[in-house]
Amino acid sequence: MERMRELVELLNKYAYQYYVLDEPTVSDVQYDALYNELLALEKESGTVLPDSPTKKIGGDPIKAFTPHTHINKLYSLDKCNSFDELRAWDTKLRQIRSDITYTVEYKLDGLTLCLTYKDGLLHCASTRGNGEVGEDVTAQVLTVKSIPSRIPYKKTVEVQGEGIMRLSAFNKYNETASEPLKNARNGVAGAIRNLDPKVTASRNLDVIFYNVNYLEEGYIPSQEENIKFLKDNFFKTEKLFVSSSMDEIIEYVSSINRQSLDFLIDGMVIKVNSVPLREELGYTEKFPRWAMAYKFEAEETSTKLLDVEWNVGRTGKLTPLAILEPVELCGVTVKRATLNNYGDITRKKVKIGSNVFIRRSNDVIPEILGVAEDFEDSKQILPPTHCPSCGSELFKDGAHIFCPNEENCLPQIIGRLEHFCSKDCMDIRGISQSTITQLVNVFNIKESTDLYRLTKEQIATLEGFKDKKTENFIASVEKSKSVALPAFINALGIENVGKKVAKDLAERFKSIDALSKATKEELIAMDEVGEIMADGIIRYFANHTFLIDEFKAIGINPIMQEKTKSEGVFSSLKVVLTGTLSTFTRSQASKEIEARGGEVTSSVTKLTDLVIVGEDAGSKKAKAEKLGVKTISEQEFLKLL
Ligand code: NAD
Repeated sequence: MERMRELVELLNKYAYQYYVLDEPTVSDVQYDALYNELLALEKESGTVLPDSPTKKIGGDPIKAFTPHTHINKLYSLDKCNSFDELRAWDTKLRQIRSDITYTVEYKLDGLTLCLTYKDGLLHCASTRGNGEVGEDVTAQVLTVKSIPSRIPYKKTVEVQGEGIMRLSAFNKYNETASEPLKNARNGVAGAIRNLDPKVTASRNLDVIFYNVNYLEEGYIPSQEENIKFLKDNFFKTEKLFVSSSMDEIIEYVSSINRQSLDFLIDGMVIKVNSVPLREELGYTEKFPRWAMAYKFEAEETSTKLLDVEWNVGRTGKLTPLAILEPVELCGVTVKRATLNNYGDITRKKVKIGSNVFIRRSNDVIPEILGVAEDFEDSKQILPPTHCPSCGSELFKDGAHIFCPNEENCLPQIIGRLEHFCSKDCMDIRGISQSTITQLVNVFNIKESTDLYRLTKEQIATLEGFKDKKTENFIASVEKSKSVALPAFINALGIENVGKKVAKDLAERFKSIDALSKATKEELIAMDEVGEIMADGIIRYFANHTFLIDEFKAIGINPIMQEKTKSEGVFSSLKVVLTGTLSTFTRSQASKEIEARGGEVTSSVTKLTDLVIVGEDAGSKKAKAEKLGVKTISEQEFLKLL
């Protein structure tokens, strides 16, 4: 009983911070673990304390907002974490009715919103609150552009949806925000439950709808019809999968790739499709018996930040790496996380000794989102003043810190050489990081040009280099002299210039000499080049004349060859491919067209001469027909070839 009381108090504190203040101090994983412990104790003892969170929906509305009483109660959802539990739920329901059709939807991770329309007009928008009474947030919700202000249904209706912040909007907001948002869910909750609608508007929110909660006149018999009603009344909805087979549902749920979506989902919701059956199954105090949320593995958790390590990159930029108290996330033990730069640390107010939220991203190491909780002994992170590798005095440039010792700072030298030799640059094979470290340590190599002076005898003295390997290495270095211009520009390691921009620069300037003389105006006139990048390019060539001369002396001075135009059946024609071709892939077909003098472009415009139409062609075919552009089938294309 003592532990139950302790858990109830702790969970209620966390729920208040989460639902009312929108400032959680623990991650959902930690909250759920305590919640499940309490549930198990309640089941075992048969006692439920009167203020137990297992009996409550959400949090009470705050006084700053006008309360709104929902016409019908808004429930939470029962949850499971495994397919076995999902099957058990299905088996239980099938004891009541053997033939059940289910619908499956995304479980959107945002803020529940309930919108009331009267006489076809938006009357009120409110939060879920405690399920019965929510907060009136009409002014805030009106800033969401995708919400219809007028709908065809003219009687009173209450619709339920999830307020979300798209990840693209979230990232864009965080790029410039003085106080970054910790996650997209917090972004939407904080923006809607904010007294200033201007703040809401600045977050570019969206609402996706999934339920008609009350309908004054008429009857909606199923979830499929629910979604149809919403669509017909101009509400945004998401995919709906329908099936009566649990195997099929599990296969569908397993196929969902949440990383590919532009919004957060934390699971999938499986609902009984038939409304009469729902009425038969009914509700508990907290959730409907006819729906189940299958929760995905959490991608976020919190842990203690133990220290920050600064690593020097090839451009001299120092990157902070957070050392964490080890914690499980998505099946791996996480010990480190990214903090992008010093500016990021100060914006996120992260301190050593604080608990921080971390989130799995597409990268290998997770990212720190922000502070969960600070403690008395949390210590501010100070920017380093001297290079952790060579001891040079560091300098700041915007949010970044740099080591100026380009010539002698070891990680910079190694990083530069590694980049220079890599596949997208000079493509020097068989040179690992440990070989580079040996070359630097044994032969005091500092510049990429030094690689071309190494002799076979010297290489053969390196650890692990037998005859064959030595010969291959020397041959690979020699071969790299005939590098193409785009790869060579990439190999130079100019700040912010990656593979794509290197290619554009090569196509625009055609030689290193011309690029080195490019003016800022010429550079920024290019689509991909901004002021910062242009300054970096100009600075690079001003400081590296000697290096470019050395490359020339070695025989490396690639020139971009003008493409010789082929002649043939497609000479001077702009051609677009659409749909699926059965005999070629898109790129094979493009090559065939180019080899016969044509140019393949991606979109159909008035300037397009010909559209080749494969199976299942969609909008491009329609556009070609609309613009009067000639279209031909795959068979006709083959005949032309
Ligand atoms: P929930 O948010 O997990 O599920 C119910 C909600 O799902 C509904 O209210 C609805 O808004 C939403 N939803 C999204 N897509 C839906 C769809 N297609 N159909 C129906 N509903 C859909 O449940 P809850 O009870 O509001 O909150 C519990 C969650 O909140 C837990 O995951 C818990 O970890 C978290 N929480 C965290 C803390 C913390 O301190 N970190 C505190 C309290 C609660």
